[in-house]
Amino acid sequence: MRPDEEDGTTKSPGSRWTRIWAIIALILLILFLLVLGAAIYFYINYKDSSDVCLSPGCIKTASVILSSMNSSVDPCDDFYEFACGQWIKGHPIPDDAPSVSNFENLGQDLEFALKELLDENDEPYDYETSAVGKAKYFYNLCLNESEILDNWRTTFDEVVKSFGGWPSLGHQMKPDASIEMLYADMVAKFKADSLFKATVQPDDKNSQRHVLLIDQPQLNLFARDFYVAAENEERMAYLQLIRDVLILLDADRTRATLDAKEIIDFETALANITMADEHRHDIAELYTKITLGEMRRSLPHFNWPLFFNRMFKDLHEKNGKRITFDDNTEVVVYGYEFLRRLDVLIPQYDNRLIVNYLEWCWFFKTMLRDLPDPFALTIFKFYKTLNIMNVQKVRWHGCVTRINSLMPMATSAIYVKNHFDHEAKQQVEEMISLIMESFVDLLLSEDWLTKETKQTAKQKVNEMKRKIGYPDYLNDPAAVNNEYKTFKVYPGHYYQTKFSFYEQYQRDVLERITEAVDRERWVAGAALVNAFYSPNTNEIIFPAGILQPVFYSKDFPSSMNFGGIGVVIGHEITHGFDDRGRLYDNLGNIRQWWDNATISKFEHKAQCIEKQYSSYVLDQINMQINGKSTKGENIADNGGLKQAYRAYKKYEKRHSRPPRLPGVNLTHDQLFFLNYAQIWCGTMNDKEAIRKLRTSEHSPGPIRVKGPLSNSYDFAKAYNCEPGSQMNPREKCRVW
Ligand SMILES: [Zn+2]
Repeated sequence: MRPDEEDGTTKSPGSRWTRIWAIIALILLILFLLVLGAAIYFYINYKDSSDVCLSPGCIKTASVILSSMNSSVDPCDDFYEFACGQWIKGHPIPDDAPSVSNFENLGQDLEFALKELLDENDEPYDYETSAVGKAKYFYNLCLNESEILDNWRTTFDEVVKSFGGWPSLGHQMKPDASIEMLYADMVAKFKADSLFKATVQPDDKNSQRHVLLIDQPQLNLFARDFYVAAENEERMAYLQLIRDVLILLDADRTRATLDAKEIIDFETALANITMADEHRHDIAELYTKITLGEMRRSLPHFNWPLFFNRMFKDLHEKNGKRITFDDNTEVVVYGYEFLRRLDVLIPQYDNRLIVNYLEWCWFFKTMLRDLPDPFALTIFKFYKTLNIMNVQKVRWHGCVTRINSLMPMATSAIYVKNHFDHEAKQQVEEMISLIMESFVDLLLSEDWLTKETKQTAKQKVNEMKRKIGYPDYLNDPAAVNNEYKTFKVYPGHYYQTKFSFYEQYQRDVLERITEAVDRERWVAGAALVNAFYSPNTNEIIFPAGILQPVFYSKDFPSSMNFGGIGVVIGHEITHGFDDRGRLYDNLGNIRQWWDNATISKFEHKAQCIEKQYSSYVLDQINMQINGKSTKGENIADNGGLKQAYRAYKKYEKRHSRPPRLPGVNLTHDQLFFLNYAQIWCGTMNDKEAIRKLRTSEHSPGPIRVKGPLSNSYDFAKAYNCEPGSQMNPREKCRVW
């Protein structure tokens, strides 16, 4: 026996006390643990109740979320229904539109805000020098139907006379009438794009410089498909519209019927030689640079030097010198094959017919939509046949849209002054930095890019310029006035004023040909619910109009802002690296900066997305998605979601976790994905759904939710979706 053991078992007088003390200590310990447990319990409970945000902003946000979602549906089964089920029930399609959605409603709210601002007439309009005064005056001219009815015909007759007459209306055509000169005037004065598009833009292969650009035409009937498919409803309705309008313009009835048919036949022939959008993604392949001399020689049936010189005949360089072109002038053509085929097409039709087509398009695009009855009724009949609307849209909508596109910086100036929250700019700046960081992290961790490609890609992200809200000069009325100083208002004359605005607008665009590209210039106004990536300038643009709920709100928890505007930011950044954007380098020039092995890996990944989306069916019309034409947007959606989520997790680490929303039983990770989905809540009628699927580069709302979320491991984890469930399929695609 060892002595210490003996000691330990010896019944000494002190051992009873030791036992008592031990029992007391044990009791104290139990008591202490009980108190600690209770404290933790109360702490958690106390923390829980204080962690719920009860501010009016949070309550409103929570109520919008709850009233939109259908929580009886399993989010792993159909997340779109889970997020939007009740929203859809509560938002029937309005009578004056073919669709309704959260996104479109935001645009409507913006239109309404602009209307209120343009309606304000607290002081007499200074339509001589003030840009805002001119915009307001234009808007009121547009609303004044009786004045328009009184004098539209005078303006119409003057313009048609300047074109040399309109044969459909019985005017004699000069035997030497030149299509080149007529169309050049139409482009210079009315932004015409019906025969082909001719404009000035940064050169894709030398992004510091502007260049003349020729592209295929913008057809009147939605897209190429609607002409080339066998006889269809849209084409028939359009034919009827041309005929009815010609008769309203006093054309002889028999003549009108024949000419309408000829016009649509010519437009169909034109549609037939255009390239379908889905084949136009590869700009590098589409791009051809050619001199005017070469055009003259290889495209002999259209006098290109005459056309360009006529188009610029009233335009000048900064030093006052007239702008002229010669055989050495370079022109960029998107889709040279179209021009080659146009050169074959033109001589097949007589000038009279082509002139009729051009003047019809001119009238359709610049006058018809703003004319009161009986024209308004005729065009309404056309829209109604196509299920675009069941009742006429109230007039002011069109007037707001016109002025917002003709003088975007004037309308933007009043919009941001009254509706822009400057705090937003700061927050969005921080978000952009985090999302760019996440993109770079992702980029560097990829194994399919070579080291060199990674480095250049990283440089491209780091040099990506950001434009948020609006350009600073909008705060300075003198600067805005100066921008529109040549815009002339003709009191009492809507169309005269509109046409003078068109001409000035075009002048600004075309005169850039002699100037370097100004990277500070905003390509879009601020009063827009949209966002952009511009490949030539390698920049992302977020106009003030998109920085509001459902995309962004300072009342939203950060999870929702990242799921909203955050995903949009990621989407735009990813456009710099989608099937089109990846062709441009950090300076905005098309050049091959990826090695061939990386390109083929990229294409393999993009192919996965294309195949996946092509297998999706829009149940409503049982029609498949065109995975090819939506590829770029789908890549951007998938990449954007992933980057924004990662950036949110970084943000969460740097800031305190936001409080919970009252009554919303969702974690912040779940809210991130829910808000992303709720942006796309919406419905459209069947005809509109078919048109969208045939014409849009974007997938429809339900697919924009289904695709990116079912490719996301982060989503599956946030909602605990079993592998193999509808929203967490085992096979996933990703590019970025
Ligand atoms: Zn996009």
